[in-house]
Amino acid sequence: MAINIEASLTDILAQCHTLAMRNTLPPAEEETAIGYFPVYFPEEIVHAAGFLPHALLGAGNRVEVRYADARIGSFVCSICRSTTELGLNGSLNGMKGFFAQPICDAAKHMAGIWGRNFPEQDPQLLALPQNITSPAAVRYIYDEYQRLRGVLAEKAGHAIEDEDIRASVRVYNENRRLQRELYRIKRDTPARLSTVEAYLLVRAGTRIRREKHNALLRDALRLLEERPTRQSDKPRVVFVGGFCEQPPLEMLETIEDVCFIVDDDLLIGQRWITEDTPEEGDPVWALAESYVNRSASSPVQYDARKPKEETLLRMLREARAEAAIISAAKFCEPGLDDQLALSHRLDAEKIPYLVLEFEDKMTSFEQMAMQVETFAESLLFE
Ligand code: SF4
Repeated sequence: MAINIEASLTDILAQCHTLAMRNTLPPAEEETAIGYFPVYFPEEIVHAAGFLPHALLGAGNRVEVRYADARIGSFVCSICRSTTELGLNGSLNGMKGFFAQPICDAAKHMAGIWGRNFPEQDPQLLALPQNITSPAAVRYIYDEYQRLRGVLAEKAGHAIEDEDIRASVRVYNENRRLQRELYRIKRDTPARLSTVEAYLLVRAGTRIRREKHNALLRDALRLLEERPTRQSDKPRVVFVGGFCEQPPLEMLETIEDVCFIVDDDLLIGQRWITEDTPEEGDPVWALAESYVNRSASSPVQYDARKPKEETLLRMLREARAEAAIISAAKFCEPGLDDQLALSHRLDAEKIPYLVLEFEDKMTSFEQMAMQVETFAESLLFE
């Protein structure tokens, strides 16, 4: 029986790996994709219009940046550069729309770069409120979401009814509940589900419709409940810094060789609404209100109600982690700013931490392996 569980999980994970690492779009006759750049994008509205939301997460270390060098500075983070490369090498041909949000200077300029190079994809910026605690914040984002709804309705050639959006909210609420369950297993029994496995399961959802992803997660969760737990003596750590550009899979594997990552902010754009969005009433208002009152903290959102340092301390406490890995993508200003603030606070709290920098195009991990191993040993034998 145990062998069947393992074999079935291996099959699901192999399928997720293929989906997660896919940089191209599905055939146009199957799905019409709308691309969006991280982090806080309301996928539900795209789903309700009948399009496939396609998260633009860069090309990882599987594509060589050749054409993008002529269009974007070498001092810009990898996700912007490699996403542009995917556009220029034809991988995103046929995308029917491109949305970015002003989460940082680099992301803000992506809409302009896209407009110059791919005007037929009608690139747009979807604004976010600067002051999320202002009484006008929900109304402001509601108006932006309604604008998005209008743009998508025009592309679809039909109106997007409230009931369509409510149906999508229900699908996404279930999706986030399943993802939370995945994270609960990883936190409570990390030997049962590794972070790389959880990551692949979540990332597969960026390439298929949520209904299919829900079915895939339900199958995986059923198997995981019965998966035998392997004993292992590794320190428990929290990983932060994967909110926008994603670290290479090999980096997560390198950390997991010697530590359990019991919580993280990887792919936070796939689960940024932290509780169920109300399924009654005006669905667009419910989504706007979710951004203001139910959104995950990240370095690209300033909200005095949830200071970053407190968020990290809470993650550590709730995951019963003894240390943190504070990471940031190379050239990512918001990530690097937070790294400094978080390390000061961890110093004050006397909580051990390791600072790491990554690029999605990294291919060599030997030096990082030595750093992480030394860190893990210091935690085990201090
Ligand atoms: S990785 Fe950082 S700098 Fe780059 S787009 Fe994302 S938030 Fe902006």
